[in-house]
Amino acid sequence: MRFLLGNSLAPENRAANYSTMASEVVAATAPKPRGGGGRFCTICNERRAALKRPKTLEQICKECFYEVFEDEIHRVIVDNHLFKPGERIAIGASGGKDSTVLAYVMSELNRRHGYGLDLFLLSIDEGITGYRDDSLETVKRNEIQYGLPLKVVSYKELYGWTMDEIVKLIGLKNNCTFCGVFRRQALDRGAALLKVDKLVTGHNADDIAETVLLNILRGDIARLSRCTSITTGEDGPIPRCKPFNWALNLLFTYAYFKRLDYFSTECIYSPNAYRGFAREFIKDLERIRPRAILDIIKSGEDFRISTFTKMPEQGNCERCGYISSQKWCKACVLLEGLNRGLPKLGIGRSRGLNNERNKDTKETNGTKALQSKQCGTLDF
Ligand code: SF4
Repeated sequence: MRFLLGNSLAPENRAANYSTMASEVVAATAPKPRGGGGRFCTICNERRAALKRPKTLEQICKECFYEVFEDEIHRVIVDNHLFKPGERIAIGASGGKDSTVLAYVMSELNRRHGYGLDLFLLSIDEGITGYRDDSLETVKRNEIQYGLPLKVVSYKELYGWTMDEIVKLIGLKNNCTFCGVFRRQALDRGAALLKVDKLVTGHNADDIAETVLLNILRGDIARLSRCTSITTGEDGPIPRCKPFNWALNLLFTYAYFKRLDYFSTECIYSPNAYRGFAREFIKDLERIRPRAILDIIKSGEDFRISTFTKMPEQGNCERCGYISSQKWCKACVLLEGLNRGLPKLGIGRSRGLNNERNKDTKETNGTKALQSKQCGTLDF
C-alpha cells in the first residue's frame, strides 16, 4: 500500500499524509504530449508514464494510478470501518463526476474485496428543466453500465413543488436555500424507501474544505463540529459516509482517464454568491499552496468547541417527524412559506413558526444560517 489515509492515523501522521495527497493532486493532470516517446512508469517500469507525482517527481502510468487511487479509497473504507458485510448502501448519484466515480469505484471495490454490500443508486430530481433531466439520463446509463438498481425521488412528489416552480415564484436569490434543504431530506427519504443502512456521497476534500470555511464564516458551530467527519448522522435515521473525504481533484483525473460517463454541466440556477466566493478563494489558495485544502480540513478536524457554546438539541419536527432542533424542520418552514405565498417566511430571521425553540438555538442553528447556503449537497 502506498498511501495510508483515515482517522485511524495519529494526527501527526495524518498531517504528513495530507501533504502526500496534496502533492499527488498537483500531479494529477491530464498527460502532456511527450516528444521522443516519454518515460516509463516508475512503479511498474513497463508502461509509459501518464502523470507525474511532483513530491517524488515520479512519473506513473494510468494503470498504476488507478491502483494507487483505488487502494487509497479501499484503505479509507477499511480503516474507518465504514461498512459491514450484508449492509444495503445507497450511493447518492447526481450524474456528476464525483458521484459517478464513487458509483464506479464502490462497485469495483465491493466486487474485488468482497465487501458483501448491496449497492443502489439514489438520485434526486429537483425538477430543473435543462439540467437535472439531462443528468438523470446519465445516471440511468450508469445504472446499466454498473449494474446498480436506481431509485429516483423527486421534489414534486415529496413537496409538491419543482425547483422550476420555486424559482418562478422566488427568483434566483434564495433558490439554493430551498433546494439544499429539500435535497437533504429527499436523500434521507429516498434512502428510507430503499431500506438502506447507509448513504454514501461523493463529497471530496474540496467540498469539505469549502464547508469548513463557510461554517466558520457563518459562525455555525454545530455544523463546523461535524462537517469534517467521514461518517455523520449516526444518531439519525440513516448515517452518511464520505469515502472521498480526503480525495482532491484526483477524481477528475480518474474519471477522465477511465472515460467514465458523467454529466458536467452546471445547474442553470447556480448563483455565483457566497459559496461561489468561498470556492474561488480556496482555489486561489490551492494554486499558491496545493496542500491548503487539506490543511483547512485538518484545522476543521482539530477545532475544539468550547464547553460554554450552546449546541442545538436534536428532536423531531412536529409536522413531518424529520430530525430537527426546532419545532418545525427547515423544509416544513420553507414549504409553509411557499404554500402560503410567503416564500420569504423561512428565509432570514424566523418569525412565528419556530420562535419557541429558536430562543436557545438561533445563533448556531437558526434560519439566519440558511440565508446564503448554496448547492446544499454539502449540508452535513
Ligand atoms: Fe439546487 Fe444546486 Fe442548482 Fe442551487 S445550484 S438550485 S442547490 S442544484
